[in-house]
Amino acid sequence: MQKEKLYGKTLNELIAITKRTGMPGFAARQIADWLYRKEIRSVEDMTNLSKRMREALSEYYELGLTDPLKTSVSSDGTRKYLFPVQNGKFIETALIPDRDRSTICVSSQAGCKMGCVFCMTGKQGFQGNLSSNEILNQFRSIPEYRQITNMVYMGMGEPLDNLDEVLKSLEILTGDWGYGWSPTRITVSTVGILDRLQEFLEKCRCHLAVSLHSPFDEERRKLMPIQKTNTVDEVLNIIRNFDFNRQRRVSFEYILFRGINDTPRHVRELARILNGIRCRINIIRFHPLPGSEFSSPGEMETLAFRDALNAKGIIATIRASRGIDINAACGLLSTLEQNKS
Ligand code: SF4
Repeated sequence: MQKEKLYGKTLNELIAITKRTGMPGFAARQIADWLYRKEIRSVEDMTNLSKRMREALSEYYELGLTDPLKTSVSSDGTRKYLFPVQNGKFIETALIPDRDRSTICVSSQAGCKMGCVFCMTGKQGFQGNLSSNEILNQFRSIPEYRQITNMVYMGMGEPLDNLDEVLKSLEILTGDWGYGWSPTRITVSTVGILDRLQEFLEKCRCHLAVSLHSPFDEERRKLMPIQKTNTVDEVLNIIRNFDFNRQRRVSFEYILFRGINDTPRHVRELARILNGIRCRINIIRFHPLPGSEFSSPGEMETLAFRDALNAKGIIATIRASRGIDINAACGLLSTLEQNKS
């Protein structure tokens, strides 16, 4: 019989497990403490549980940590990990050190069903939702996990398309019985799934990043099929009507494609649609993928695009490119691995 994994369970789930296995209710917090505050490798290591309790637990449950299969290290210090997940699939995780910060970029799905045309993960198609165990294991099972200061859900998959498991993982990261992180250390990125966005905003206090890439309906449809059913106008309506506290940040991700979304017309329209929203735009340089029809504008044009947005009163920054020498574009590494098998 396959044992269930304890790592990735919320406190309420652990309480249910203690009941099911005939353990006292207070043991749930003890188990959470072992899972999320200490470094153990098996249920046997939970030494403040009686031997009888550990045996009862071990009969049906295991710790459930999985080491990465591969690690690539970039000359700029960025690391990329390949993890195996259910059904023989692979997911990718990136660790990006930057002065006193160390940000981990986690995947929320194997593959993705959103089909953004510029994305390697999108080309893989959807292969499955990750459990909260598989989401958090990317953080817990890398050697540098104690140094991680921030987490972004910007790896493979669309987090709001797997919202229940993503919310569970956020609850564990931010709960006082879990890792106890401030939600302001976490950013969840989405293409804008309307019927889950409101729920996400209400159920957690983490930062929100929306993948925008074009302010024009027709042009965004060509880049991101989601625009056909979940428009940016509707996403912005939800954001405008939600009461964000001062600490909670909204940002818009904008990959700059030469000749496609990098003109003064785009600057004007971005300024118009984002008017009145307290936000920033993160401009991302596009790094060509094998066989891609897209390219990136030059450095001068990229800086000019940023400056033009700033001149319109929109805070815009250019994200530093990291890990280019290790296939850091999301989806590349796992595609290579899948093609081998
Ligand atoms: S960009 Fe994100 S949402 Fe779009 S296909 Fe890639 S992983 Fe999915």
